[in-house]
Amino acid sequence: MENNETTPPVQPAAAPRPMGAPPMHRESSAGPRRPGGPGRGRFAPRRKVCRLCAEHIDLVDYKQAQIVKTFCTDTGKMLSRRITGACAKHQRQIARAVKINRNLSLMSYN
Ligand SMILES: [Zn+2]
Repeated sequence: MENNETTPPVQPAAAPRPMGAPPMHRESSAGPRRPGGPGRGRFAPRRKVCRLCAEHIDLVDYKQAQIVKTFCTDTGKMLSRRITGACAKHQRQIARAVKINRNLSLMSYN
């Protein structure tokens, strides 16, 4: 008489979980991220710092054409604050300087 019923010793399936433990808690390693709708959150929000404030340039002079030109495209268009990150005070000074420089033909209009 053969005994095929080789029953393995009954093991407990898993260690009993404590009652208060959350099931499969997923750690977010991406850091703090703002919840947003679709289209948001593809780029990490980064606070831009005004470059002129960082360099402690109080007044943007139109004669500093090298500084003014860094806030413009190659074709001479002014870049917006959204792109340059300049503060309102410096953006006004940049806009003034660009217009003066255009009038003095230090910069191009187009
Ligand atoms: Zn500034």
